[in-house]
Amino acid sequence: MKILVINCGSSSLKYQLIDSDSEAVLAKGLAERIGIDGSSLTHQVPGRDKVEKKESMPDHNVAVRLVIEALTDHEHGVIDSLSEIGAVGHRVVHGGEKFTSAVLIDDKVIEDIDALSALAPLHNPANLIGIDACRKNMPGTPMVAVFDTAFHQSMPKKAYLYGLPYEYYEKHKVRRYGFHGTSHDFVSRHAAEMMGKDRKDLKIIVCHLGNGASVSAVKYGKCVDTSMGLTPLEGLLMGTRSGDIDPAIISYISEKEGLSLQEIEAVLNKKSGVFGLSGYLSSDFRDLDQAAQAGNELAKNALETYCYRVAKYIGSYVVAMQGIDIIAFTAGCGENNYSVRKGICDYLDCLGVTVDDEKLKIRGEDLIVSNPDSKVTVMIVPTNEELAIARQIMELI
Ligand code: ADP
Repeated sequence: MKILVINCGSSSLKYQLIDSDSEAVLAKGLAERIGIDGSSLTHQVPGRDKVEKKESMPDHNVAVRLVIEALTDHEHGVIDSLSEIGAVGHRVVHGGEKFTSAVLIDDKVIEDIDALSALAPLHNPANLIGIDACRKNMPGTPMVAVFDTAFHQSMPKKAYLYGLPYEYYEKHKVRRYGFHGTSHDFVSRHAAEMMGKDRKDLKIIVCHLGNGASVSAVKYGKCVDTSMGLTPLEGLLMGTRSGDIDPAIISYISEKEGLSLQEIEAVLNKKSGVFGLSGYLSSDFRDLDQAAQAGNELAKNALETYCYRVAKYIGSYVVAMQGIDIIAFTAGCGENNYSVRKGICDYLDCLGVTVDDEKLKIRGEDLIVSNPDSKVTVMIVPTNEELAIARQIMELI
């Protein structure tokens, strides 16, 4: 079966058409600047040149129509007609406590995703626009929602409750949800496969280190803790997000800088993390590496603080799981960045971790980087959220 996977943002729409039998990507692309001047669609079929089409996309309906045209185009397309698409998978950011796995989309599911928009105001409404546009353009094709939060719903209460009045949880559902769930699920499963073992017998820590970053503790196949919280702002230092801070900083900075709550939240989301710490140098680790090598102290601080925070989370999850078999690095930085992986692994000596420095330098492929005598297996496991979504759809339908 051919499955179209859609990841819809407020002004962008990423897609992949995947053949579920071979798990090959047949085509992928990105519609950008939807609803903004200068919109364009980039469409690529593996092995062929990218095609870029500059065309006005006043809304997501038009974007989906252009995606369908690209997929069925006689020159650049890969299918003859829409009927070849057996299902559409939509990445949805927040599933709250309601959704613990992928679901077939109907009117009730749409209502429930909409009701959860208060918890993810930037993401869920955009995800719904994509669902609506696909339903209009592909009536009759089954649509499935796959949630970023679902994999983390197995966390025990002690891991998801905050030390706040319990009534906030009861009244407003304030609790840890966690994100990047599709990636943590995919990577922990694949890490176990790489060891030739069953995930149900292993204690695994997944470090998803992209622009957004999170760590999860996966014990015997189930997530028992993760670093992101009610929103993706908690936990690790990220590209531009602060991660954990003392909550009292918010009122302190508000007074000192004369900023409103909304303005401070924007600073915490967009101007903090390694970007803020490096003196607004860059949120990209390649730039920070280069600057640190050239002697820039702020870039060095940012990288050291970043690695230290990841290592601290790993340490706490070893205790949470009462042991550890595998540490897996994934996403842009985890898959590609030697200095970050090295900076983190240097802290893991006390766990009996030894790594092969030459292997640690290799980029972007499934690889065990720890030595055979290491007490914990350390791996690089490239994530593939689209394939993970396609697999979940096959399981469901
Ligand atoms: P997201 O999906 O959260 O936007 P990614 O998973 O694409 O982010 O990760 C982006 C990060 O990965 C960037 O900060 C970048 O520095 C890092 N990265 C990507 N490729 C490389 C590379 N070749 N070397 C070092 N870092 C890299």
